[in-house]
Amino acid sequence: MVARKDRSINKIMVFSDSFHIGKSWDFRFIRPAVYNKGMNTTASESPAGLKGLESLIEKCVLCAGCHAGCPTYSLSRMEHDSARGMVVMADAILKGELEPDTSIARKFDHCLTCMNCVEVCPAGADPVKVITAARSDIRRKLGGGIISNRIFTGVLPNRTLLTLFAGLMTIASGLYRLLPALEILPFVSRGRKKTIPDFHIRRLKNDYPEIIRPPGKPFMRVAYFTGCMADSVYQDAGRSVIEIMQSAGMEVILLKGEVCCGAPAWFAGDRESAKKMAEKNFRLFTDCEADCIVTSCATCGSVLKEIYPQILGAKRAEAFSEKIIDFQKLLVEKLWDRLDFINGADHPLTVTYHDPCHLSRGMKVTAEPRDILQKLPGVEFMEMENASACCGGAGTFSIKFFDDSLEIGREKAESVKNSGAEVVATACPSCRLQLSELSGRFAPGVRVVHTASLVRERIRVSEAVRKKV
Ligand code: SF4
Ligand code: SF4
Repeated sequence: MVARKDRSINKIMVFSDSFHIGKSWDFRFIRPAVYNKGMNTTASESPAGLKGLESLIEKCVLCAGCHAGCPTYSLSRMEHDSARGMVVMADAILKGELEPDTSIARKFDHCLTCMNCVEVCPAGADPVKVITAARSDIRRKLGGGIISNRIFTGVLPNRTLLTLFAGLMTIASGLYRLLPALEILPFVSRGRKKTIPDFHIRRLKNDYPEIIRPPGKPFMRVAYFTGCMADSVYQDAGRSVIEIMQSAGMEVILLKGEVCCGAPAWFAGDRESAKKMAEKNFRLFTDCEADCIVTSCATCGSVLKEIYPQILGAKRAEAFSEKIIDFQKLLVEKLWDRLDFINGADHPLTVTYHDPCHLSRGMKVTAEPRDILQKLPGVEFMEMENASACCGGAGTFSIKFFDDSLEIGREKAESVKNSGAEVVATACPSCRLQLSELSGRFAPGVRVVHTASLVRERIRVSEAVRKKV
């Protein structure tokens, strides 16, 4: 173990080299020019993101425990692709020893925020918090890309523009399919095109009133935070969630003013935009006075529950955060016994489950989906190996680093295939998109679904519910 006083970017370079196995250490990220320029920057000039995180950075004892299971480090074996490497770089930025430039920015972007490092760290460090803070500082210094800036500041916080954007994406995704593999796009590589999902011009929420009453007397009042993907892309999952909750006797609130949870902006380092979205959703969902706020997207859920308190203040967001619950957990705890299941013997199905990182490591929901799949009539649950390993999707990571995303996902696809299951269920639209990409390439024939859709297929739903009460 390295002593704390050795926490300098020079020392970690030497230290890492001696621990490096297999490949040679990549010195490119520590260039002489960086030192010379960086030395002129004082710590007080460091923008706000990393400022105040000194004690969190200090928690990292540089043991390299987080190398194990880090998808990006496993891929490249480069120190700067590990949590430890990024914490050291962040520390150097904070101290003014490292001047961020576009190459450093790209290194910080090359992290899936999968939280494996947070989970395995024996010292209780939180590298993801440090990495996202560093992204924020770097973004403030260098500015973001024109397109991402427009999307974060203009489109995602604005319901109307977001709907228009979905319409544009519908046209764009249609054209994209017709076009040959244009290598000028970041998500096209070596003749391979990233799968773009179908967008719906009409929002799911527009099919329902804001308050959906169940056929009988409601036993609970639940606000459903659909997230953008269930609202505009994977509407089958959103509709399943609504119909299951209604069938169990819940009053469901669908707030049309809901905006993006802010995750894309937050993880890209645009904290101002993330805050705007958090404020809007916080006010809207607090005012509706629901018993709980259910999410069917792992990332939305973990952002609402864990990041909103960081953005809005722990005390202010405490009650809000406590109300956030993942749909699968709600299903097991409150709905299961109220549902009318079909006889599954006529519909046998083998199903495996992929743990979304933000659900398993973020919201700590792992037992409930398995419980559901083990009890679901006609379903034989087949656990895959390394079910909690990241699939390599991680939102914009798979766009910026398409090749690496496929390479990281290849192992996941192998696990899915080796499980022998016909279907892989998950509870995150981003994972679903990536798993569809992967199954198409490496595990053909495997269907990818949201757990809610599987459950919906196996319950009886009254005419009143189907008619969107
Ligand atoms: S983040 Fe944790 S596991 Fe990784 S090097 Fe630091 S102390 Fe060790
Ligand atoms: S969040 Fe995941 S990809 Fe990023 S450093 Fe940690 S383990 Fe590696």
